[in-house]
Amino acid sequence: MSAPVFSTLGCRLNAYETEAMKELAASAGLQGAVIVNTCAVTAEAVRKAKQEIRKLARENPGAAMIVTGCAAQTEPETFAVMPEVTRVIGNSEKMQAETWRTLRAPDLIGVTEKIMVDDIMSVKETAGHLIDGFGRHRAYVQVQNGCDHRCTFCIIPYGRGNSRSVPAGVVVEQIKRLVDKGFAEVVLTGVDLTSWGADLPAAPRLGDLVLRILRLVPDLARLRISSIDSIEVDPALMQAIATESRLMPHLHLSLQAGDDMILKRMKRRHLRDNAIAFCEEARRLRPDMIFGADIIAGFPTETDAMFDNSLRLIADCDLTFLHVFPFSPRKGTPAARMPQLQGPVIKDRAARLRGAGEQALQRHLISQIGQSHRVLVESANMGRTEQFTEVRFETPQPEGRIVQANIAGADRAHLVGEPFA
Ligand code: SF4
Repeated sequence: MSAPVFSTLGCRLNAYETEAMKELAASAGLQGAVIVNTCAVTAEAVRKAKQEIRKLARENPGAAMIVTGCAAQTEPETFAVMPEVTRVIGNSEKMQAETWRTLRAPDLIGVTEKIMVDDIMSVKETAGHLIDGFGRHRAYVQVQNGCDHRCTFCIIPYGRGNSRSVPAGVVVEQIKRLVDKGFAEVVLTGVDLTSWGADLPAAPRLGDLVLRILRLVPDLARLRISSIDSIEVDPALMQAIATESRLMPHLHLSLQAGDDMILKRMKRRHLRDNAIAFCEEARRLRPDMIFGADIIAGFPTETDAMFDNSLRLIADCDLTFLHVFPFSPRKGTPAARMPQLQGPVIKDRAARLRGAGEQALQRHLISQIGQSHRVLVESANMGRTEQFTEVRFETPQPEGRIVQANIAGADRAHLVGEPFA
């Protein structure tokens, strides 16, 4: 029988957990199985999960089909009724070695027994599973899971449970392991990263963790932070932004909207001016800082004027990498019960945001021509700068290594680099 096939949908946290599941499945000796690690952030994500399951079932006849991840956690029946599916595993169960031992030799059984999904809100600990590798040259490290907030549009807390932190010592150990394996860059990831530490003794903050990692792992070349809530950034993190050159000058902000009334209806913790003030301060401390952001288009009750406030935020915060999400009502969330906008309006606003995002990226790319950058090579002809900007090389470069490059040009989505001779 063949080794298990893994498919990962969704976020970096899922990508990290897939690496952990690969190791758990291998130690349990699991064979002849397909594992799909799903996402539930939008209805579209759930549709894609079902599509992926059907495709992989066709490609792997006779293999057991195991579905896990946030969509499996929030709507297990949706997958249990699919004839292709053998087991539906919860987000906590997927990280337990015992689960993989029981999966070793599955028999075809009835729908209900297929479901192994516990109440995720009862989970208090993060699964301190240390991984030894990552299927790419940038390693994601989970430092936090779950979320205590309840933004009105978001289903994630119901898929991931309440916020819980990985102790700093475990995180440092994990990163040392990856650096010993030759990883030049590590990305701290979680669901609500800025709440890291709130459940640990003495309630340390994310900035304390960043400073501790950089102090205790001097051989780590590049530390990156994935998505953060700018209103929850602590003073130690601002200090690290200002003083630590190994902390990458790139922050992805969970902004969601640029209008105060919409932010209130989303139950976000910040207002428009807070976001602008944060970007100005971070850029004052670190002039080469680059921002990415998540913005939702067409949130219920959003008027033209409110949407214009989101559109103007791109320039007001000087955002470069825009992730645009057309609003998608998630069953069970308060926003799904609010008066919805028409589909074409949502689509048009998403297109206008994306258009403005592309222009912002173009401005950034052109501004880099003639500069030189340290680029982490991810595949023979492609890498990323410290600001996370994509660079293409004409000639193959050493994968996993950081090379110095002159920026000779730019095209629609990336820079053209020439490595130093
Ligand atoms: S902070 Fe809000 S958007 Fe983010 S995971 Fe928590 S509830 Fe969802």
